[in-house]
Amino acid sequence: MQHVEICGIGLDDYLIRMEEFHGYRSPGMLLGGFMIDHGLAQLDPTPYLNLVVETVVCLPDAVQLLTPCTFGNGFMQVLDWGKFAITAYDRESLAGIRVWLDQDKLSGYPSIRSWFERTGRPREKPPFEELAQEILSARPELIHHQPVRLLRSLKDASPVPTGRCPGCGESYPLHFGKFCPACSNQAYYRPDTG
Ligand SMILES: [Zn+2]
Repeated sequence: MQHVEICGIGLDDYLIRMEEFHGYRSPGMLLGGFMIDHGLAQLDPTPYLNLVVETVVCLPDAVQLLTPCTFGNGFMQVLDWGKFAITAYDRESLAGIRVWLDQDKLSGYPSIRSWFERTGRPREKPPFEELAQEILSARPELIHHQPVRLLRSLKDASPVPTGRCPGCGESYPLHFGKFCPACSNQAYYRPDTG
């Protein structure tokens, strides 16, 4: 394979780190890595980097592996839109670069298309090596970007007022209402008393 770097990491190294972090070699992590690399190359260097990802699948892990922005530190925001796109932006200036894939170009890359549009049956999924080769040659054509301006910083800096839930006695953000989400019929568990 040709020598390729993703955010300063050699491709082979990235694939190893991907397996360690994400659990397996994933086309979405590879393509996502190239999208992040592309977006950051277009963005003016900033100590106030934020990343928005528009899907919960693959892309958030690529961001957390390749940038200082994580879910937990609040510098990565994850939108559950199911769109394979990211925006890298400066949270001070709100200047950003949005990166997405050109759907019209997918027809030239049958393996990527089958993976991306989930048209193949699971058993017919193209092997990773095949997809990776196609991604390597397709990326200049597939990956598009546009300068954007954020309407506001998505990192919430204001303190969240909290209080104790009269139902369970635990602390929770008061914007949920009189009771915490779990005590307002949104619980995802029940006490297991055996
Ligand atoms: Zn409660």
